[in-house]
Amino acid sequence: MKAMAKVRIVPLGGTNHVTRNMFVYEYWPDQGEIERIVVDCGIGFPEEEMLGVDLVLPDVSYLQGKEKTLIGAIFTHGHDDHIGAIPYIFPKLFSNLRALPLFASRLTAGLIESTVKDFGLNLNINVTEDNTLYKLGHFSFELVPVTHSVPDTKHVLIYTPIGTFYHGSDFKFDFTPVDGKAADLQKMALAGKKGILCLLSDCLRVEKEGFTPSERLIEETFEKEINNCQGKFIVTTISSNIHRIQQAVNVAARHHRQVVFLGRSIEENLKVAQRLGFFKIPQNVYLKKQKINTIADHKLCLIVAGSQGQEDSALVKIANNIHERVKIKPGDKVIFSVDPIPGNENAFYQTIDKLSKLGAIVSYSDILEDLHVSGHASSGELKIFLSLLKPRYLVPIGGNFRHMNHFKNLSLNLGFNKESTLILRDGQIIAFDETGKVHFEEILDLKTVIVDGLGIGDVGRIVLNDRKKMSEEGIVVVVIPLKRDKKRLLAEPEIISRGFVFMRMAKDLIQEAKMIVRKILERRKNLEDWQEIKNEIEKELQLFFFKETQREPMILAVIININFPKI
Ligand SMILES: [Zn+2]
Repeated sequence: MKAMAKVRIVPLGGTNHVTRNMFVYEYWPDQGEIERIVVDCGIGFPEEEMLGVDLVLPDVSYLQGKEKTLIGAIFTHGHDDHIGAIPYIFPKLFSNLRALPLFASRLTAGLIESTVKDFGLNLNINVTEDNTLYKLGHFSFELVPVTHSVPDTKHVLIYTPIGTFYHGSDFKFDFTPVDGKAADLQKMALAGKKGILCLLSDCLRVEKEGFTPSERLIEETFEKEINNCQGKFIVTTISSNIHRIQQAVNVAARHHRQVVFLGRSIEENLKVAQRLGFFKIPQNVYLKKQKINTIADHKLCLIVAGSQGQEDSALVKIANNIHERVKIKPGDKVIFSVDPIPGNENAFYQTIDKLSKLGAIVSYSDILEDLHVSGHASSGELKIFLSLLKPRYLVPIGGNFRHMNHFKNLSLNLGFNKESTLILRDGQIIAFDETGKVHFEEILDLKTVIVDGLGIGDVGRIVLNDRKKMSEEGIVVVVIPLKRDKKRLLAEPEIISRGFVFMRMAKDLIQEAKMIVRKILERRKNLEDWQEIKNEIEKELQLFFFKETQREPMILAVIININFPKI
């Protein structure tokens, strides 16, 4: 029997997760080579129990060995959870990065270049225009302008021999956008009229009734807040929200304040946005940070990175009173134009506390409305969106299970039948056959790939468990100085502990532990068998400490070889 052609959607991230978005669209012809295109390649953020982990990446092992079939990658917008994994993933897949054409709108392309700058990658980025059809093998696609919390965001209309797919990641309908560029509803209506086989749609804010407020609202809030500010006016927000920063600049300029940007992410993003015409600041309003102390406080507006209370950020340095240029004084005002990321409330509120303690007046969304608006569509916008596109199938993306379920209910209310909305777990591959019918195919077993200071993916569960243990139970290090030939002890073993017991209070405990170590070393005549001795020490001390303290610190025995210089 002749095989039927099909299109498959492979979600490598972005279903039942808000972050690490990455989708693969595959065209399987009835004969010949399979072709694959990637949409987005973003990072995720570590959960709270992932200690010391910096980033989470989509698991692309499915694509390994299939590199030659990848014919292009398209990016919807410049948020890290859509572009941030490029420098980690693409160099692993391709020895020659130029072989894979990337497509992105002007600002998104600029933000990608800025993201990969430190990695020295030579990418093949093509800047797209709206209303232009791009061909990639049997696929062709065009980008549809939408509004979101970073300018120049797009959706992707993907045409295939099987049917048309609409990749509707993060968006909202802002009818009065700051840059005047609204979402192209006409294009959506037209595409809907021609027929959409499957719509993938942002569902993150589906629980909210009505419409997400316009970004423009924020400027009025800034205006009200700056009016009664006696000292420095300090605004912190997500550093990619160029329109928000633009509005803060507009307000500062009207009040004859000079604007200083603090924090690498904000400075980098604004540099890109300004070069590409997405951000404007009059020359006489911009002030170099080096000149901050030459201007009176009531003539200053600082726009500062670190709105989530990130360690090492400019805002946290200011809150800790260790920033090299900025000291908080009574009368200064700090505006948090952002909501805490769920799970990050501690760092967020701690920063607010510290700033308040230094005497600043702090405004944040618990005490003041309209300090932040979301970049995602509420149910009102989603209703319009679905009604314009009228797809045969719907796949909610970019949300958790509860959002997907809500999205399904919303689609039922709009008259879609219950088979139309497909709720996918990560790695669930779906295929559309020549008749347009959907089939659930294999489920990929996707691993959590993490990045920390050591590199990519080499921090396994064991390392995470170790870190968890260290943070909860402390660590005990046994240092054993041996002579170079490893045959003789050079000095008494030392025991150091952190986070376990206070050493001076627990002298006896440590003395006893030392005795145990010494006994083991005496028992073992041959000290060359180091691995075994190390295991024995760790095991015995584990038992001893548990017996004495009911706690299980992490125990590490380390050998130090000392070589005497030859005289
Ligand atoms: Zn986004």
